[in-house]
Amino acid sequence: MKQKINTLIITSIIALLALSTIQAYLIHNTYQLKKDAFIRKTKKAINNIDNTKEMDSLGELWYTYLSESLAEYKKNNIQKKEALNSFKPKTDSLNDLFISYYKNEIASRNLEYDIQYKKDIKSIVIFEDEKMDTIFSAASGENVYVFGEKFSKKDEVVMSKARWFTDLDYENDINGGMIDVSLDIEVRTVDYINIIGWKRIVFSQMSTIFIVSVLLLLFVVSLLFYSIRNLIRQKKLADIKTDFINNITHELKTPLATLGIASKSLRKTEIQNTPDAFSNTLDILDRQNTRLQKLVDQVVTNSLGSEEIVLKKEKILDDTYFQNVLKDFELSVQDKNVSIISKIEFREVYLSIDKFMFTTALLNVLDNAVKYGKEKVELIFRTYLKEDQYEISIHDNGIGIHEKEQRKIFEKFYRISKGDVHDVKGLGLGLFYTSQIVKAHQGTVTLESKPDLGTTFTITLPINE
Ligand code: ADP
Repeated sequence: MKQKINTLIITSIIALLALSTIQAYLIHNTYQLKKDAFIRKTKKAINNIDNTKEMDSLGELWYTYLSESLAEYKKNNIQKKEALNSFKPKTDSLNDLFISYYKNEIASRNLEYDIQYKKDIKSIVIFEDEKMDTIFSAASGENVYVFGEKFSKKDEVVMSKARWFTDLDYENDINGGMIDVSLDIEVRTVDYINIIGWKRIVFSQMSTIFIVSVLLLLFVVSLLFYSIRNLIRQKKLADIKTDFINNITHELKTPLATLGIASKSLRKTEIQNTPDAFSNTLDILDRQNTRLQKLVDQVVTNSLGSEEIVLKKEKILDDTYFQNVLKDFELSVQDKNVSIISKIEFREVYLSIDKFMFTTALLNVLDNAVKYGKEKVELIFRTYLKEDQYEISIHDNGIGIHEKEQRKIFEKFYRISKGDVHDVKGLGLGLFYTSQIVKAHQGTVTLESKPDLGTTFTITLPINE
């Protein structure tokens, strides 16, 4: 059964993990789709952003600056790098205009979010008699010429790519004569946008699906947790019930068998004719009957919870009461090797207790000390007055109780079924009843124990009434 529960738990956890992974994958996919759809929508909304008169004239101006620098380079007046360096500040001087133009354009599209825009030049190549002269190429790792606002690579969304050809016309002074030169230039550009807060927007679009998924997952996890916990509880309860049935059957067997033998003997004429033997057999019948009666009483009474116990409290002088309890107990175990040391509180204390119930509670603990004791049982019975608490401690030199069992032994029907203890008779009700009686008196029962060294039970009662 335990194996089955473990398998069930492991399988459920694996299934849950698989379910969560699939769900995470689906959410991720939805996120990608929503993101793509959102970007597509934005791109569509700001389509042709640079297709305005202002932008065109800016482009022309830009090209004029570029061709001036390139002409100087081609005339061998400056190096390639210088051509770029001289052209860059001019581009920068146009940038404010570029930004204000595109911002106006974006504003006119009435979007609910802000967008940054930039144009990167990927390459500038001059073609001269089938020869290519690369002035600039972003691919070779050089700085990209930026037009627009700067934003980091991770925020970039490609808006469009363009490749355009134009002419580079200039006059060259060759050997004192001015010659018109016309070359082809190829400029490649890429336009990027950065949609400010796109993640927040996409996430907010997905918030319902995300929250519902998490809630569903939490619901399934709690359902699983609840079912497994219930299953374990049910199993414990079933185990306890089986144990109890086994124990009570075991307890009933001996008196029933003895009753059977005794009643058979009573039918025998030699017994009937011997008054002593007859009365002895009747005594046996009586004893076994009492034993059976006690057993039934134990099950009925000792199963009561603290709230069902009705107390008939009376004021009792501690010393006299405890001495009497111990005297009666000593009598009941006189055939066993039991020694008792008692140290009762030296001050006179009046306890308000139900004498009958409280005696049962004490006797259950004392009986156990003998039941789970060693060959020679040594008992120390002490009582103390501690401010407004009265403490009763019962120490034995018995087999002790393992730490992990210590809390459980107060549970109804719980018995430690290991090693030597297995053979000792009992129903697992004694300590449960003791704890319920003490609880009904507003007291507590605790214990300290070490296997093989013995156990000390401490009952604390309030005495402020
Ligand atoms: P029962 O004695 O009928 O089994 P109890 O409720 O009195 O039921 O005790 C519960 C379990 O606690 C016992 O089965 C026993 O294993 C353990 N126990 C109780 N008292 C002692 C003790 N003094 N020393 C060792 N074990 C004890």
